[in-house]
Amino acid sequence: MLTNGKLKIAIQKKGRLFDDSVELLQAIGLEFDAKSRQLFSLCKNLPIEIIFLRDDDIPEYVQDGVCQLGIVGQNEIAERSANVVETRRLGFSQCRLSIAAPEGRSYASARDLEGTRIATSYPTVLQNFITEKGISASAVEISGSVEICPALGVSDFICDLVSTGTTLKNNRLVEVDEVMKSEAVIIQTTTVLSTEKQALVNKLLARVDAYLTARDSKYLMLNIKKTSLDAAVAILPSLNTPTILPLSDPSMVSLHSVIQKRDAWNLAEQLQAAGAEGILISDIEKVLI
Ligand code: AMP
Repeated sequence: MLTNGKLKIAIQKKGRLFDDSVELLQAIGLEFDAKSRQLFSLCKNLPIEIIFLRDDDIPEYVQDGVCQLGIVGQNEIAERSANVVETRRLGFSQCRLSIAAPEGRSYASARDLEGTRIATSYPTVLQNFITEKGISASAVEISGSVEICPALGVSDFICDLVSTGTTLKNNRLVEVDEVMKSEAVIIQTTTVLSTEKQALVNKLLARVDAYLTARDSKYLMLNIKKTSLDAAVAILPSLNTPTILPLSDPSMVSLHSVIQKRDAWNLAEQLQAAGAEGILISDIEKVLI
């Protein structure tokens, strides 16, 4: 039995989003059992229930306020035309919903879709794209293995999710147009929550911010001669205000700073060239600003 009064968070019960969703919720301090594959799991340390659902059902459960928060791909929100608030982008399950053509078929623009059949599991998003482009094409709704449709003569093109492109390649298909980009997001119901539940949502979102900032950052430490300090500071991104600490050698200082993970190698190499020694770059667990 679901317990009333708890904040309900919907996540995918199995599939691509499951592991990252569980990792995120556990990283922000929610203690729950995700292993036994039940329909729901009660948090041990907070008044929260995790509800495990098919990802395509999540937008509607959150829209209707049955669950107050959910983690789902933007493609599913668009397909359901769900009225929900996208509160945070999570950076995982990144993909694109794209039009793909059989190898060798020419495609210059969406005009080339005129009069064709396009197989997809996302008929609503595809129809919106077709309407927006002012063309007439028919969406053939298929629930899975869309990529086989052109070879079977069921469709001329497909409109499907792509991340690496390997599935398309294996089926001799080429991505020719992008309909939308998608990534996992946290959604919230538009239903007004009680003061206590909204306070809990705000607390969780603040923890998510701390987790995401830490995930995308690194902690940089180095030693440098005082005479080279200005040059080293100038290399750091301008928003950084580094910490400068004295060392036992009075001619040297230690410089500490939080940097973007994606910049780490380049910055380290530039700082080394500017005279930095003993450069250490380490993970950060949480960043509360
Ligand atoms: P699945 O578990 O395969 O049903 O996929 C769930 C969700 O993962 C999709 O609705 C997308 O939001 C996301 N996803 C990311 N990359 C892909 C991909 N290459 N194919 C299918 N889904 C993807």
